[in-house]
Amino acid sequence: MDRITDDSFKSVSLGYKDAFEMMMKSTSDSIYFKDSQSRFLFVSDAQLRRLNEEDMQSVIGKSDFDFFSNDHAMKTFQEEQDIIRTGVPIIDKEEHAVFANGELLWSKVSRYPLYDHEKNIVGIWGISTDITKLVHAQEEVVQANTKLVALSLMDELSGLYNRRHFDNILKNTIDLYTRRSIGGLKADFCLIYLDIDHFKQINDTYGHVKGDAVIRYMGGQLLAYTRSSDYAFRYGGDEYALILQDIDLSSGKIIGERLRRLIEQNPPVIEGTTIPMTISLGIVEFQDEKTNSELVCKADKKLYQAKSEGRNRLCG
Ligand code: GH3
Ligand code: MG
Repeated sequence: MDRITDDSFKSVSLGYKDAFEMMMKSTSDSIYFKDSQSRFLFVSDAQLRRLNEEDMQSVIGKSDFDFFSNDHAMKTFQEEQDIIRTGVPIIDKEEHAVFANGELLWSKVSRYPLYDHEKNIVGIWGISTDITKLVHAQEEVVQANTKLVALSLMDELSGLYNRRHFDNILKNTIDLYTRRSIGGLKADFCLIYLDIDHFKQINDTYGHVKGDAVIRYMGGQLLAYTRSSDYAFRYGGDEYALILQDIDLSSGKIIGERLRRLIEQNPPVIEGTTIPMTISLGIVEFQDEKTNSELVCKADKKLYQAKSEGRNRLCG
């Protein structure tokens, strides 16, 4: 590029110094020039505002140590001294600056060597765009997405995980325990399928709204009953599933039987009405099955057996 001269703006009767000054006054970017000791030589108006100063004289000769936290000032100083030593600029770096008063600012920064007429590096100059609002907006999007993902795994009515999540968790659990058993570790987990007995009758007798409340009640009971390492799901309709980690079949049967009795002895009381209810359960222990459907099929058969043997029982 040709060197800029007063002739550059001649056709609009403007000197290049005027143009430079206009730029420094108007731009919303923080632009600054510093000497070899990283002390300010000149700053744009936006940088003045960022530093919370009104006139240039109160900034010239000062350094980042006068405005920012010690950590930030030290980091910037070292980067600027590297640029002065090597001539290598830093371009489009996202960083957060902490002001001395604790205020935090995200910016996209470029810093370049400042050359004199003999091409000696005599300092640095930098340009910094405030991206704090953008970063906060991105954080909000990430948080909203995280919430959406969590919601997509939940069954709204029961407050338990839904069937889609069941498929993922069961697959992951099978993979985990397969690796453990290959590694020679003890690898027991149980899958329980359970289903409310004669739920259709409950709906018919007490109405759908109370039926919904019963589904919710079961969700609460299962959440309260399981350990933090277990998983409880509403599989669909009045069917639920439990994955009990590090539990062998005999312990799993004790847990399932206790749950059956708990529900039988503590029927839900919905708006003052006690709704007698029982559940049937089928339990299976992981035995190196490779797929979800192998294990699910076995648990389903056990549940079917519990139903056909008269309900209100556990088969395994
Ligand atoms: P069984 O002892 O053989 O399990 O009999 P059951 O009546 O519980 O079995 P069935 O599968 O015939 O009936 C389940 C009923 O659950 C049928 C359906 O209307 C009801 N249901 C499914 N989802 C919901 C729901 O979200 N809310 C309510 N209130 N009822 C539901
Ligand atoms: Mg049922």
